[in-house]
Amino acid sequence: MKKTSFIVAACAALCIALSGCSNSSSSSSNADSSKADETTTTAAAQESQSVADSSETDSSQADEQTENIDYMVLVNKLNKLPDNWEEELQTEHFTNTVGDDVEVEKKAYEAYLKLKADLEADGVFVDLDSARRSVEDQQRIMDDFTKEYGKDYAIKTVATPGYSEHHTGLALDLYLIIDGKDIVENEDMMQYPEIWEKIHSKLADYGFILRYLENREQVTGYGYEPWHIRYIDDVDKAKEITEKGLTLEEYLGKATAEDFEVDYGKSEVFTEEQLKEAAVQVKCKFATFEGCVMHNLRYDGDKHNTKDKIEIMNMLDESTEFVKVARFLCDLKTPENGSDKFEADQEIKDYEWWLGLDKDGGWSLLQWGYSPAAQENAE
Ligand SMILES: [Zn+2]
Repeated sequence: MKKTSFIVAACAALCIALSGCSNSSSSSSNADSSKADETTTTAAAQESQSVADSSETDSSQADEQTENIDYMVLVNKLNKLPDNWEEELQTEHFTNTVGDDVEVEKKAYEAYLKLKADLEADGVFVDLDSARRSVEDQQRIMDDFTKEYGKDYAIKTVATPGYSEHHTGLALDLYLIIDGKDIVENEDMMQYPEIWEKIHSKLADYGFILRYLENREQVTGYGYEPWHIRYIDDVDKAKEITEKGLTLEEYLGKATAEDFEVDYGKSEVFTEEQLKEAAVQVKCKFATFEGCVMHNLRYDGDKHNTKDKIEIMNMLDESTEFVKVARFLCDLKTPENGSDKFEADQEIKDYEWWLGLDKDGGWSLLQWGYSPAAQENAE
């Protein structure tokens, strides 16, 4: 049996936290309502700001303003859109050739127009099918799918609101125009690999990268999509990423964002939907464990939902009233070169994740770490 108790000391330091996703300050229901308030106040603030700008008629000022967003931002199935993103985002709207309104982040739009012109000079014609989708839009899509096809199907096919790169306004879905005909269906577009190759070869020159590469589903969480391009506002970085054949996750050193399977087991305490939400909290936290690789994640059964454990959860975070407790376990590999939290290159079995469900149905990730003692108890 492998001795990994050294991890205990390392983990003790980081065992208590008040919430799951680093981006959300409290349970999801609370975060949503406070966000609605923020939107109104910031919109008002932006309005007065833009009045000030126009009086100065200084164009560089407007450029500086768009720097409020991080063009290298990583949004994927494990990494949520940063909290203030939608307030800071500046966009442009236009109508595409099929008559849809398309919204794109300002600088990404300017770069796209240059890319488009360059392609046209080469006889390749494209337009944008879809670019920015708000979190609210995504929720609407999710609701529609749930109504029509049921929850399980909806969760499988629709990106979780908050976790789609399209929220950023920096992700653009292209479609092809061939002999004046719009080719918009995915299967149809796949029939033109040589055209995509031409398009892809020009992306980096304008600060774009191809986002979902072939055979990288384990890293990005998505299969190959030749049409989904991403603006990163940096030609040099775009060229480096392209030349090295990297995904954004790999370039940022966050290749741990594998869309690993979760074993939800059987539960009479929680619905599958609740366990899925809990797993997202774990994944969000894990995404901050730099260099670690998670092999699997599993719900550890209803046995931990006891009065005593609920009491402990309520002691750990007295501001929230927890009514249920869940434990997840995972096996993970520590970073190759170690980190301040982990010794180098070790396999850890049964790493624990403790979550409390509050009376409003929101999850908080309260404790995580590894303890051999707890492992014995479980057996
Ligand atoms: Zn897309």
